[in-house]
Amino acid sequence: MRRWKDIPLWKDVSTKEWTDWKWQVRNRVMDVDTLAEVINLTDEEEAEIRDSMKYLRMAITPYYASLMDPDDAHDPVRKQAVPTSNEIRFKDYEMTDTVWETVDSPHEGLTHRYPDRVLFLLTDQCSMYCRHCCRRRIVGQTDHQRSWEEIKEGIDYIRETREVRDVLLSGGDPLMVSDEFLEKVVREIRKIKHVQIIRLGTRTPVVLPYRITPKLVKMLRKYHPIWLNTHFNHPNEITSQSKRAVETLVDAGIPVGNQSVLLKGVNDCPTIMKKLCQDLTWIRCRPYYIYQCDIAKGLEHFRTSTAKGVEIIEALRGHTSGFAVPEFIIDAPMGGGKIPVGPNYVVSMSDKKIVLRNYEGGIFSFPEVEGDRISVCPPKCKLCKDHPELESNEGVAGVLAGKKLCLIPEGTVREARRKAYQKEKKHAGRRSE
Ligand SMILES: *Cc1c(COP(=O)(O)O)cnc(C)c1O
Ligand code: SF4
Repeated sequence: MRRWKDIPLWKDVSTKEWTDWKWQVRNRVMDVDTLAEVINLTDEEEAEIRDSMKYLRMAITPYYASLMDPDDAHDPVRKQAVPTSNEIRFKDYEMTDTVWETVDSPHEGLTHRYPDRVLFLLTDQCSMYCRHCCRRRIVGQTDHQRSWEEIKEGIDYIRETREVRDVLLSGGDPLMVSDEFLEKVVREIRKIKHVQIIRLGTRTPVVLPYRITPKLVKMLRKYHPIWLNTHFNHPNEITSQSKRAVETLVDAGIPVGNQSVLLKGVNDCPTIMKKLCQDLTWIRCRPYYIYQCDIAKGLEHFRTSTAKGVEIIEALRGHTSGFAVPEFIIDAPMGGGKIPVGPNYVVSMSDKKIVLRNYEGGIFSFPEVEGDRISVCPPKCKLCKDHPELESNEGVAGVLAGKKLCLIPEGTVREARRKAYQKEKKHAGRRSE
């Protein structure tokens, strides 16, 4: 990391300006000529950047740009911020809205996929446009926040939908709106009785740490419980500034989690990920998820095998603090949602014992209880009678709970055959009457 005063372009910038998030946003690096004053680019690289910027705009905060090694094209910060022509090489299997955020959507900008939580996009603007962004279909298109009228419709939906207990504000970056606008949104949502927690998904602690001001956290803490997830991908992003930003949030009682994306040539290595996860716990940021890179258009060059994610978890679990171990997630296309994938620790099971392996490769058994194996509720508990909404009745959990005997997929050949048989039998029955 260079001091900004050592970069000729910013040598006259005062500390007051540099640490002012609005100055940082106003002075983002948005064109090739400015970028060439910050890092060294070959003519070829300059041409590539001009080409690919047509698809997803370039914007790099001066702070994040100062983290780049000016001479290394493989610098992990540079790879996340500087476009390359790989972004305009599309593959047949790639999609625009890969995870169907617009399909599971009652209102523009609101996605209701899981039983008790919604994703709510406040703006399409980010302070820095990540080259691996999977919301590139919307992000940066207008560089604007949504109007209050549009947002009100989303809030009305949340108010009318009693099962929503967790509202995830995202974007773009929800911290690109003013404190006043954000407060207006958070205040309205907080008034809704059935909303238990409000979460923010923001990359500002990493790319614009000056956005986390005492004034912002003072406002947010009035509406607790507020949670926040950010997006560190590499240990080089943990600086005194990003550390201060995370600590300011945590000190205000806002738990901070981290969602990384597995990126080829940036962090697709167990050692880099271990360093990242350990350094995150050092700044009190809890590693939450590592995502398999999405199949959004133009991201082929960033994608790793899914096996790489499993290998990383294998290298972490047991080898380091439990809370330094995130979950590896594949966000399945077509609204399948987040699916955790990881190494297997169960070797085998019988009704007498379960055989497990630990992280060292040791094999151990654990005895099953003998005799009556039907579990009964604690004598005085009536939680599920009083709160039926707490029961998980969907999917396999529903089968285990005895709500369903089986789950049968629709649209199979067997189903069509079965329907045809039934129809035939009905006709035959009529004929014989
Ligand atoms: C990721 C996501 C959430 C939040 O999921 P958690 O696993 O609870 O963090 C909610 N809604 C949508 C549509 C999402 O993609
Ligand atoms: S901060 Fe998130 S939404 Fe914004 S460009 Fe990066 S990945 Fe995309």
